[in-house]
Amino acid sequence: MPLYKQQEIKIYNSLSGEKDVFKPIHEGYVGMYVCGPTVYSNVHLGNVRTFMSFDMIFRYLKHLGFKVRYVRNITDAGHLENDADEGEDRIAKKARLEEIEPMEVVQRYTVDFHNTLNAFNFLPPSIEPTATGHIIEQIELIKTIIDNGFAYEVNGSVYFDVLKYNEINNYGILSKRKVEDLIHNTRELDGQSDKKNPQDFALWKKAEPRHIMRWPSPWSDGFPGWHLECTAMSTKYLGEHFDIHGGGMDLKFPHHECEIAQNQAAKGQTPVNYWMHANMLIMNGKKMAKSTGNFILPNEIFSGDNEHISKGFTPSVARFFMLQAHYRSVLDFTNDGLLASEKGFNRLMDAIHLLDSLPTATTSTLNVLEWKQKCYDAMNDDFNTPILIAHLFEAAKYINQINDEKATITKEDLAILKETIHAFVFDIMGLQDTVSTNANGNSDKLSGTVELLIKLRQEARANKDFALSDQIRNELDTLGIQLNDGKDGTSFNL
Ligand code: AMP
Ligand code: ZN
Repeated sequence: MPLYKQQEIKIYNSLSGEKDVFKPIHEGYVGMYVCGPTVYSNVHLGNVRTFMSFDMIFRYLKHLGFKVRYVRNITDAGHLENDADEGEDRIAKKARLEEIEPMEVVQRYTVDFHNTLNAFNFLPPSIEPTATGHIIEQIELIKTIIDNGFAYEVNGSVYFDVLKYNEINNYGILSKRKVEDLIHNTRELDGQSDKKNPQDFALWKKAEPRHIMRWPSPWSDGFPGWHLECTAMSTKYLGEHFDIHGGGMDLKFPHHECEIAQNQAAKGQTPVNYWMHANMLIMNGKKMAKSTGNFILPNEIFSGDNEHISKGFTPSVARFFMLQAHYRSVLDFTNDGLLASEKGFNRLMDAIHLLDSLPTATTSTLNVLEWKQKCYDAMNDDFNTPILIAHLFEAAKYINQINDEKATITKEDLAILKETIHAFVFDIMGLQDTVSTNANGNSDKLSGTVELLIKLRQEARANKDFALSDQIRNELDTLGIQLNDGKDGTSFNL
């Protein structure tokens, strides 16, 4: 029997404003769409956090035995600098500044995105469609919305008529905004815009003569509006009505609100049952964002080469740091937070290393099955990873007590404990144990490298450069590699 039949998940649904019991449209299958990056710059750690939240959710759903089709797009056209359909296309602007083709920008930052996600041990999505690969679908969608009376063309551009739509639908259903308030709060059109009302949004924009990213359409040579691509691609790969749609909190309005409106206007139905929004990573009290310069890049975390951190951290430590916060909570990026997570991560790994050599007994002093269900309960409660981690620390404590002969475990319970810890730590949270990863084929290279570092450390000590020798010892220690100085020289434990 698949695990999902034994576990009931509740998901906080931004649409209902409550934790709803998760019931997929087709039993055993889950369709999940997550808005991907706009590939005009390197992804920063804030972006990584949102994608990591959905990677963890994807992993858990798979673990429960669901057949998940996870679609995460690449936005490679149509995302303007400003939500009000103004400003330059972000990719075209970068291409202009760097004097390269827009598709070179797209290629460069798509590769960076994939490399970053690989470094953090993300699972690839099932389908990763691009906006430029779906222009025909977007044009067809616009035609349908115009035919249904919810969009209008002016000077080669097409806009969604929000007020018309709102007469019989609810624009604001997701973000809980009222159209009247939106009208009140948006500034008057300055006469430059072709829109009937400032709340309307672009489905198609006529391209300026110098705009390279352009495609022919019934209205003009131009490009699609940003909101449209996600409706076109989610419909194509998951159907007009699917289970989960996710993204960062900042996409709830206008992006996701517009997606609902487009689907409703084109197909007469709401597209998604569960809308999920991941919260922001902040630094110095402000949202991490490329535009303000308040950001840190993944490579800087790994190398330690950034003023906000005192040293480098492994991808798994950074991942652990992020998963120690619930995905719907704001997370403050701090050096102290990372250092604490590193300690916690090492404590967990040390306990996991002991699992293979624990003595067994005729009784267990912990109810292991009850503990295991607590781990599932944490994840079933809207993917509560901080509570899950607290249970894993409880297990780590138990393992240490067994090792110190202050607690006992039966052989059967030890097998359950081991299997459960491995499932939650490695498969679901996606953490990697540097030591065992390296043991899978790279141990010789690793040993050689550590021996080289030991030699360099000896040289440093001979030169009385104790700062360097300590640095080598401490940084290896951080990676879980302990140096032992003995009378016959220095040995090490991996
Ligand atoms: P973008 O490429 O700007 O569309 O962003 C890609 C994803 O990263 C979106 O889901 C955003 O909501 C998310 N995101 C952007 N900034 C942050 C942040 N500081 N913390 C968490 N997620 C973010
Ligand atoms: Zn989207």
